Amino acid sequence: MGLGDEPRDPADSSGEVRIGVFGGTFDPIHRGHLEVARAAARAADLEQVLLVPAGRPWLRESEPAASPQQRLEMTRLAARDDSLLDVSDVDVVRDGPTYSVDTLLDLRERYGQGAVFVLILGADSALTMDQWSRGDELSGLCEVLVIGRPGETWPSDLPPSHPASRAKYVKGPMLQVSATDLRERLAAGADVSDSLVAAVTDYIRENGLYRAQ
Ligand code: ATP
Repeated sequence: MGLGDEPRDPADSSGEVRIGVFGGTFDPIHRGHLEVARAAARAADLEQVLLVPAGRPWLRESEPAASPQQRLEMTRLAARDDSLLDVSDVDVVRDGPTYSVDTLLDLRERYGQGAVFVLILGADSALTMDQWSRGDELSGLCEVLVIGRPGETWPSDLPPSHPASRAKYVKGPMLQVSATDLRERLAAGADVSDSLVAAVTDYIRENGLYRAQ
């Protein structure tokens, strides 16, 4: 369902719509991502969470295995049965490396001034915020919500200069799943369907993704 299909709560007189923005490589999108999105919606009172596959993630050591269009398609399949979730292609259609500040500027154009954006980050991503391009501009564009991830302890003593020091932190579902691990297991021929939405498992098989080279 798209934003605006539901009648607004008449008790909410602010006119603001709170929208979560959850970017990722999503190579492939897995149940950890979906549970993070749902936990974020509860923690930050979000009406909708936009899943935003990156076009060209720039902080990674290697290129994604699946193409931007394939990762976008898998994300759409993963989101289609949950009315909380929607998918945006803003980062796939933009040329150049994917920077979150551009994501938020593009979304502001699409959604207008009535939207309040909440940037959702796993703890590992949030800790890299001090290396992000134009990361200092983010505070004027969105709230930031950090969700815990197994293996990452969230420091209570981040220096005030770190952009994540102003973020809200919630522990979240703490699911031990990562796309890197899933790609390795798929290449070894393992069954990882427990960690994926069924339509994504089918898409990976039909398109021959993540097979050993
Ligand atoms: P990879 O292993 O290839 O890095 P990933 O599983 O971390 O992939 P990404 O698409 O890189 O997935 O992550 C998108 C966002 O989701 C990031 O903010 C990341 O921190 C967060 N994330 C991914 N998996 C989890 C998880 N299990 N728990 C909490 N956050 C997660």
